[in-house]
Amino acid sequence: MSTPAAAAQRRPGDWRRTHTCGALRLSDAGATVTLNGWVHARRDHGGIYFVDLRDRYGLTQVVLDEKLASSVRFSAEYVLSVTGTVKARDAQNRNAERATGEIEVVAARVEVLSASPNPPFEVSDDIDTALETRLRYRWLDLRRPLLQKNLLHRSRFINAIRRSFERQGFAEIETPILTKATPEGARDYLVPARVHPGKFYALPQSPQIFKQLLMVAGMDRYFQVARCFRDEDLRADRQPEFTQLDMEMSFVEEEDVFACWERVLSETFAECMGLQIKTPFKRLHYDEAQQRYGSDKPDTRFGLELKALDAWARQCEFNVFKSVTAQAGGRVMGISVPADLAAQISRKDLDTELTDHAKSFGAKGLAWWRPAADGGAGPLAKFAAGEQGLALRAALGAKDGDLCLFAAGPQAQVLRVLGELRNLLGRKFGLAKASGIAWDFLWVTGFPMFLRNEENGRWESAHHPFTAPADWNFRADDDAALGKLESRAYDLVMNGWELGSGSIRIHREEVQQRVFGLLGIGPDEQREKFGFLLEALAHGAPPHGGFAVGLDRLTALTAGLDNIREITAFPKTASAADLMCQAPSRVADAQLAEVHVARAGKGLEEGA
Ligand code: ASP
Repeated sequence: MSTPAAAAQRRPGDWRRTHTCGALRLSDAGATVTLNGWVHARRDHGGIYFVDLRDRYGLTQVVLDEKLASSVRFSAEYVLSVTGTVKARDAQNRNAERATGEIEVVAARVEVLSASPNPPFEVSDDIDTALETRLRYRWLDLRRPLLQKNLLHRSRFINAIRRSFERQGFAEIETPILTKATPEGARDYLVPARVHPGKFYALPQSPQIFKQLLMVAGMDRYFQVARCFRDEDLRADRQPEFTQLDMEMSFVEEEDVFACWERVLSETFAECMGLQIKTPFKRLHYDEAQQRYGSDKPDTRFGLELKALDAWARQCEFNVFKSVTAQAGGRVMGISVPADLAAQISRKDLDTELTDHAKSFGAKGLAWWRPAADGGAGPLAKFAAGEQGLALRAALGAKDGDLCLFAAGPQAQVLRVLGELRNLLGRKFGLAKASGIAWDFLWVTGFPMFLRNEENGRWESAHHPFTAPADWNFRADDDAALGKLESRAYDLVMNGWELGSGSIRIHREEVQQRVFGLLGIGPDEQREKFGFLLEALAHGAPPHGGFAVGLDRLTALTAGLDNIREITAFPKTASAADLMCQAPSRVADAQLAEVHVARAGKGLEEGA
């Protein structure tokens, strides 16, 4: 825009812009310019009219005299073309907060390019419009500078990641959207096939199998900005369709995948945020993450680590704890909140906020202790006097004035309760922020291979069924060993958020068959569902592994947002609906017949 050649080609009365609404500066004073944009605000100053014209790049103040103002009618959100002269503003009228705040454009010609009725809400970052209204009129919502900034951040971030993968020799390859189910643990979205009556495509939960086939095909290094679809019950921070940066590489082990991503993320943070992040990232084994932080995605910027108190509990006088240690898998653990924070936790906080939080994660109550020489205070005090108290302090690493919190019961529940209490206290006291570490990355490794489904007693994959076991020769008939078998899956955690997961894969047909078998997928089902993969694995598959990062979460967090909706152009609601285009929507019987689908059940009648 505004090159001399472009200026020379302009016809008189040309409505097209010479500059954007964020471009003009004091050095442009005297120039004749044309701006295009939306009417952001309009002020009448007794015979002189000021209009703030807005586009993606900024706001420029336009001045209209009375004659011009009375010759055109427009109001908020009209689209105008304004031609005029750039004028330096008087010193007292300069607006230091606006990039264009030193000038204004004195209009000579105003043309209405597009009209608008009164908009459903004002295009402003300061107003608090109901979410449903914002989503219903998303095209208007997206005119807000903050949302535009978010989308631009996302665009820059994803493009920087792309470039980094290209520099590392990765090929960007698209995989099908109309495909066959790839299990990632969610329900599939199904699409009926018109030309194959009774058959359905599934939308990909991830490109997992295709990217592995690309490795078998010898493509060596693949990546894709991949749309994935998972039909799950939504939580506030999930969307039924989302975007992953999906990648896979051949002839590698874990450390090669880690090094690749450490480079991608450090290059991207440097390019998009001007930040040097520390590489290599920390590594933490899954078991250690659970035992120290009660989570497989801990925020490691602050302490409050969990402490094992089983030995103390076994010999203590407090029967509740003692009896738990006698049960198989029973644990007693605690955390010690340092005195300076403990002093800010009242008895009421303990009995309500903290206890309720513990209960919401399955605890029956919350035992606590404020250690002191005389045994201290709290339900644990009478069991923690003298030698007993010293031993308990030592196990907790606690001092006088600290507040110790306890959980007892089955291990998984104890870890969860204390892990969540730790998170709550971290949030309550802003501990992560106080650490001064803005971006904390962590690889969590050594996840279990299989988890037992308590309801039906079956083994399930902890990651997905294509993940390699740490031991290729694992025995499928040894339940105790299977429960302890490690997988070669890993997660990347940033500031306590799971950014992505991946694994070294099974590249041997026989191992893949053994894993499927263990998951209850018999030979016939294997052939029917995954025959093409097994066949490929039998024909020269290289060892390979990969990873996928959730781009919605990564770009939201780096833009300082805690909800991915704010960085998704057209998000869905918590019930997976698009309020703007009213999807999902009913279809006519004729259209259903075409795809060989019949209505069944109540409430499914046409037009109901
Ligand atoms: N396909 C996995 C996922 O979507 C990621 C991976 O294993 O690479 O979570």
